[in-house]
Amino acid sequence: MKLYAGDIGAATGFVTDVNAQVLDADNRPIRGLYACGNDMNSVMGGVYPAPGITIGPGITFAFVAARHAAGAAIQARRQSAAA
Ligand SMILES: Cc1cc2nc3c(=O)[nH]c(=O)nc-3n(C[C@H](O)[C@H](O)[C@H](O)COP(=O)(O)OP(=O)(O)OC[C@H]3O[C@@H](n4cnc5c(N)ncnc54)[C@H](O)[C@@H]3O)c2cc1C
Repeated sequence: MKLYAGDIGAATGFVTDVNAQVLDADNRPIRGLYACGNDMNSVMGGVYPAPGITIGPGITFAFVAARHAAGAAIQARRQSAAA
């Protein structure tokens, strides 16, 4: 990934799925790796239309990622308890 210096935000970054999980080159989620905010590819597809388009999705996908990670941890604990 190429990096460019900036002083406001970022419109491109790691491509993620609906759970904010980073996708690999084959578009498969990388288990345990999440991205949001400036690290995540913008929901606007690399375009910066107006102020507000960075913080809003940043907060939203941080919440989504935390919820998904917590769910995955609970599921893993249940599976290890059942084994
Ligand atoms: C002047 C200005 C005005 C803006 N106005 C708006 C606006 O009106 N609306 C809007 O939506 N967006 C606005 N933005 C953009 C918005 O603030 C950013 O896009 C957003 O804060 C990015 O969030 P982030 O969590 O990805 O990164 P950041 O908010 O930069 O958070 C990254 C955090 O990681 C910490 N960190 C860095 N390296 C390390 C390390 N090695 N170990 C531990 N911690 C580390 C940093 O200290 C920082 O706290 C503005 C930005 C600027 C500069």
